[in-house]
Amino acid sequence: MIPYGRQDISQADIDAVVEVLQSDFLTQGPKVPEFERIVADYCGAARAVAVNSATSALHLACLALELGPGDRLWTSPVTFVASANCALYCGASVDFVDIDPRTYNLCPVALAEKLRVAEAQGALPKVVVAVHLCGQPCDMKAIDRLAKQYGFRVIEDASHAIGGKYADEPIGNGRYSDITVFSFHPVKIVTSAEGGMALTNDNALADQMALLRSHGITRDPALMTREPDGPWYYQQVALGFNYRMTELQAALGISQMSRLDDFVSRRHGLASRYDLLLESLPVTAPWQHPDSYSGLHLYVIRVAGTSHQQVFDSLREKGVGVNLHYIPVHTQPYYQSMGFDAADFPEAMAYYAEAISLPMYPGLTEQDQDFVVSSLSEALEKT
Ligand SMILES: *Cc1c(COP(=O)(O)O)cnc(C)c1O
Repeated sequence: MIPYGRQDISQADIDAVVEVLQSDFLTQGPKVPEFERIVADYCGAARAVAVNSATSALHLACLALELGPGDRLWTSPVTFVASANCALYCGASVDFVDIDPRTYNLCPVALAEKLRVAEAQGALPKVVVAVHLCGQPCDMKAIDRLAKQYGFRVIEDASHAIGGKYADEPIGNGRYSDITVFSFHPVKIVTSAEGGMALTNDNALADQMALLRSHGITRDPALMTREPDGPWYYQQVALGFNYRMTELQAALGISQMSRLDDFVSRRHGLASRYDLLLESLPVTAPWQHPDSYSGLHLYVIRVAGTSHQQVFDSLREKGVGVNLHYIPVHTQPYYQSMGFDAADFPEAMAYYAEAISLPMYPGLTEQDQDFVVSSLSEALEKT
């Protein structure tokens, strides 16, 4: 089976992890801050807080932005459930904004319209999570303008997008958002096995996320609410979690970061080749915004009509591990029970009826790719 995504682990990655195993610290040592510094510097952000997953990073980002009961978070329905669940963890409610039919990202026109209506109803969101689907950045300038106009905060869910650029600047630099979140799950662009990171230029937000990542406990007398009892003293000043990343994960992440640019350019090479090979087939290749350099986590084609499922099945039968990113979140049973109607977001549903993620990862060979395309071509002919 050719998977849709796969990690690329080098001997240097393995050596980096083994070295940590032989060191003094398996957790809470020097590797996590080093990883944070490397990612922050790469992206041009002031601060980075490493955690055990992007899901945890999204949760901490929402808490740092003081999202709570009575507040609303809006995001795209075409995303992984974690982009929405983070609001529910905080006791806030979730709503969605339909996607742009060209980029498949949250549509800024739909966002503007929904904000106008929400303002009249006194129901504006506190946070909007902009998900860079497939690695292609959202229209951040438009979202930032609306954020200033309506007073909401912005989290970029850049789980697909490390190594990409928006308007010639690295995704993660925080020019148009409060916090940017990356995922280091093995299918993503660089991996730490499990892991995530939240980047920000706001020291107060970074300090708060760092505090909450480790139980809300501080050893810094400046943050304590009363004088330390003695040198053993630590103080819990908030209700936090154990969302820490291990040293093993950080060492793998650091080692992977040295190949980030190669990984992304390899993905671009594969995408260009897919674009060419698919030209003669009746499918819609992904559209790339000229203002962006995508991380290209995913290469999603659209197959119109009733053949979608047949094509999907036929590719799986041939050993091509296609996937569908994503089942619109508002159609999940858990969200349906909150009263969402599938028809609420028609562009998301149209996308869901047609989308297929083709295999896309640095180790995919041209031979593999030719097999994917010939299998797709045969599948389309059969329908
Ligand atoms: C993978 C992913 C997440 C969650 O990442 P984890 O590190 O697995 O928690 C969140 N949002 C999006 C868009 C993702 O693709």
